[in-house]
Amino acid sequence: MQIEKKDIRAVSKEQLRDFFVAHGDKAFRGNQVYEWLWSKGAHSFEDMTNLSKTTRLMLETNFVINHIKVDTMQRSEDGTVKNAVRLHDGLVVESVLIPTLTRTTACVSSQVGCSLDCNFCATARLKRMRNLEPAEIYDQVIAIDKESRLYHNHPLSNIVFMGMGEPLMNYNNVLKAIEMITSPEGLGMSPKRIMVSTSGVPKMIKKLADDDVKFKLAVSLHSAIDEIRARIMPFSANFPLADLRESLEYWYRKTKSKISYEYVVWEGINDDQASIDALVKFCKYVPCKVNLIEYNPIDDGEFQQASQAAIEAYIKALESNGIVVKVRRSRGKDIDAACGQLANKEA
Ligand code: SAH
Repeated sequence: MQIEKKDIRAVSKEQLRDFFVAHGDKAFRGNQVYEWLWSKGAHSFEDMTNLSKTTRLMLETNFVINHIKVDTMQRSEDGTVKNAVRLHDGLVVESVLIPTLTRTTACVSSQVGCSLDCNFCATARLKRMRNLEPAEIYDQVIAIDKESRLYHNHPLSNIVFMGMGEPLMNYNNVLKAIEMITSPEGLGMSPKRIMVSTSGVPKMIKKLADDDVKFKLAVSLHSAIDEIRARIMPFSANFPLADLRESLEYWYRKTKSKISYEYVVWEGINDDQASIDALVKFCKYVPCKVNLIEYNPIDDGEFQQASQAAIEAYIKALESNGIVVKVRRSRGKDIDAACGQLANKEA
């Protein structure tokens, strides 16, 4: 019987040190291997040139390095790049590089498919196939960092967890990935440049606050009226806005970090005065800003982008109440790389 080898990047540094001691070597060898795996991004044991051949062979017999592979890379006319990323078991997720004049942002996936059921989002149709491992999230970032250096001559500046999946439904792995992204032993990126976006899972938002995380939080709100929210995001019927509000107040008390609300305005759904008033009211509970996202049609016609007049009514109401609001234009629409469009069409 073939024993399945363990993915070495699911092993902690301490465990690696112990492994070497148990095999009659020095604990320090574990540090060397750890460095190869994370900060040097080695794809094979062969690459670990400062280890003896015997050591490399011993690692080979005990472990594998499960690496992602960028299957296809599409470039949009606006400079956005979308990677279709093949995982070791053949499944595919997508990640996106979004360049602007001053920064390049990686938009990464946290699950294959998604656990949630937002009616306006293409990823929701895939259902959740599995959670991504920390290394699979980390590798997406490394791949985009390389592309950023290649095409834009500078390293990646920001990361948003706004690709496929609900990050807070893969809590431990997302946090482990961020730990490596921010650790000097990994990418050494500041947590302030990382934003995790959630559709709003109150219990997990509180857990983030308790775990004293240093990254930013975005909430995909889309409506501040329970009935409407539950219609377009059915899972949210279990998480009423009162609970969401309470968790966000808790988050702010502990972290003092402003929330970003993601909000799409749709014709006939939330383009009325009652929706605007509800959002303005909701925004007063916790310091925040609002990102009005352009709708990216996912071709069934049920949802339509609201009129410019409706968007302007939102902006006017928010601004006159002292709430910062930005309109986010879609990027990479021509290659299905925009918000809500990630659905492995090419896979
Ligand atoms: N599950 C997390 C992470 C995904 S982020 C979350 O919901 O926050 C993806 C963002 O794009 C979310 O704000 C989501 O609500 C938004 N979105 C989904 N489908 C969209 C679409 N068709 N057009 C524009 N935005 C969309």
